Amino acid sequence: MYTFNPGPSQVYPQVRQYLQDAFDEGWLSAQHRGERFVQLMRQTVAELKNKLNIPQDYTVFFMSSATECWEVLAQSLTPNKSLHLYSGAFGEKWFDYAKALRPNSTGIKFGLDEVPNANNLPGLDEETDLVCITQNETSNATQLRDGVILNLYNRLPGNTLLAVDATSSLGGVQLKYIKADIWYASVQKCFGQPAGLSIMLLSPRAVERFRKINERSHYNSLTAQYEKMLNFQTTHTPNVLGIYLLSRTLHDRPGIKVTHQHLQDRASKLYDYFDQATQLTPMVQTPETRSTTVIGLQGPAPLIDEVKRRALAQGLQLGSGYGNWKPTSLRIANFPAIPDAAFEQLVQFFAKEFA
Ligand SMILES: *Cc1c(COP(=O)(O)O)cnc(C)c1O
Repeated sequence: MYTFNPGPSQVYPQVRQYLQDAFDEGWLSAQHRGERFVQLMRQTVAELKNKLNIPQDYTVFFMSSATECWEVLAQSLTPNKSLHLYSGAFGEKWFDYAKALRPNSTGIKFGLDEVPNANNLPGLDEETDLVCITQNETSNATQLRDGVILNLYNRLPGNTLLAVDATSSLGGVQLKYIKADIWYASVQKCFGQPAGLSIMLLSPRAVERFRKINERSHYNSLTAQYEKMLNFQTTHTPNVLGIYLLSRTLHDRPGIKVTHQHLQDRASKLYDYFDQATQLTPMVQTPETRSTTVIGLQGPAPLIDEVKRRALAQGLQLGSGYGNWKPTSLRIANFPAIPDAAFEQLVQFFAKEFA
């Protein structure tokens, strides 16, 4: 059985052994103020930066989910308002969470086959604390390329930071970290791990900003997390098991360059295939805005149902559509933990039953 669900997604088979080791090595009752835990944190941060090519001067925080990251950014880095550029359901959810806390926040919606226009951003002014984008929109299988992010970054007023939701690409795609101030992801997507842990990366500029704002009204305020993280500790008892699994996973994986190329090659093959050979077609028409980590296919609702049902009977669990797209689309995660053999089986299934 393979799952192509884009989160929670297929975990690495090695996770079974890591879990056993975590138990045997005593991590499940480890003291989170002890030297052993601090050593694990230090090692995990070093491994993250090394394997993912994250700049050394970026600060790493561990939280529980991408959703927590949304809220923390509104609390600790948005004294006034944020501007949200989005095309799909996750970007919109982030906007909703931000508005609930900072009602002056605004949003600009763009289409699946479009990119946000950096030269025309109504609502962007000196009072804008954050411009928020979703690098990989898991709900509609779109992705913003490096050039789009760079253009936005270059257009920001002096005090505005660029925040990027990279939940379903970080760990699978080589990202240009220096071209944004905040990046985050949770581990149940491209990291091939069980849910319950997220990672946030902050540029020196972002750290300087939240320290100046000095918001301290919440247990997860960035200022408090920062002060603890200086000693590789956390404000509360953290997900020690999740951090342990992350460190083991990262240790056993190649560098991001290798993974990035592998996923890109697999994505090209899949798009080539679905562009011509099947009754379903890619949701996104423009190659430039297609995601490399989540492939979206569309078709009439009864056909989508039929495809999902017959695939499942052969041990292939396809991801359902999301939000408005639920009945008329399905999603195929192209995450690193899914082996090539699974995709070969998937293509054979389509070739045989739905060509
Ligand atoms: C899955 C996902 C989220 C939500 O992640 P949680 O860890 O469940 O909070 C947010 N943004 C994107 C783009 C996602 O794919």
